[in-house]
Amino acid sequence: MKTKTPAPVTVIGLGLMGRALAAAFLEAGHPTTVWNRTPAKAGQLVRDGAQLAPSIGEALKADALTVLCVTDYPVLYELLGEYEAELDGVMLVNLTSGSSDQAREAARWAEERGARYLDGAIMAIPPAIGTADAVILHSGPQGDFAAYEPVLGALGTVTYLGADHGLASLYDAAGLTMMWSVLNAWLQGTALLRSAGVDAVTYAPFAQQIAVGVAAWLPGYAEQIDKGAFPADVSALETDARAMEHLIEESEAAGVNAELPRLLKEMADRAIAAGHGGEQYPVLIEEFGKPRKA
Ligand code: NAP
Repeated sequence: MKTKTPAPVTVIGLGLMGRALAAAFLEAGHPTTVWNRTPAKAGQLVRDGAQLAPSIGEALKADALTVLCVTDYPVLYELLGEYEAELDGVMLVNLTSGSSDQAREAARWAEERGARYLDGAIMAIPPAIGTADAVILHSGPQGDFAAYEPVLGALGTVTYLGADHGLASLYDAAGLTMMWSVLNAWLQGTALLRSAGVDAVTYAPFAQQIAVGVAAWLPGYAEQIDKGAFPADVSALETDARAMEHLIEESEAAGVNAELPRLLKEMADRAIAAGHGGEQYPVLIEEFGKPRKA
């Protein structure tokens, strides 16, 4: 993926992901400076044209976009803390995973030292970096994202979410709950069917069809949530709750784990007890939107 702007970039952190990021910048023609605690990991990148900086202080340059990708935020402070004076005027894009509060705090910390700061979340594995399949989310000042979007575009499909620096991490977390919830639901069904001798490969296409069908409901349900009105045009929550009871019974009768359907039923029962039994499923947002009652 070639970008038109061969702006200089610096990549700090050359683990599995950092090396992929630096390689994508090189591939797109950007003059690329790299730094890593273990310099040997820069070997291939240097052979491909990267410049290995002897220290972070020398890697940080006011005219280069600096991408940070290390294990976690404490490592980031440990590394940059030694070079606070060199941060003045530097554009940082932090692609290290962390929480939304860590991102907001890092933005404050960097901005107090004169740096500009965008946070980011990589929703891809290293081999996808540099292709359109690598979705990378960004949040922070819109002007900074707009200025560096052509450079960041060398890494994959880059998306801007908003000025709140925590948004990239929050979207990342929201994506993870979607991924694990779909996988767990599929595993529950697979366990049920295996008890009757149906193998996982036979069930998978059927499960895929259901997941795609349910995904199509999301925009309409989202409108109900945003309006705060949940007319039961398709089915009422109390009807769903009866089906949940059936799923618990099936699971127990088949001798498979019933924890997941019990959790679903507990939440639905609480919403029904609060008077929402005649409303549609997304009314459960009220249960998800608060800590669980003791
Ligand atoms: P990794 O291979 O374990 O690399 C970790 C990086 O952090 C290395 O550059 C390592 O330096 C550096 N580091 C750790 N502790 C350090 C310390 N005390 N001082 C200096 N440097 C230190 O991890 P990764 O897979 O590249 O992941 C990096 C970030 O990307 C993480 O936040 C991860 O969650 C995120 N991410 C990764 C993936 C993925 O599929 N790999 C996907 C999405 C997001 P050394 O080389 O010297 O050890």
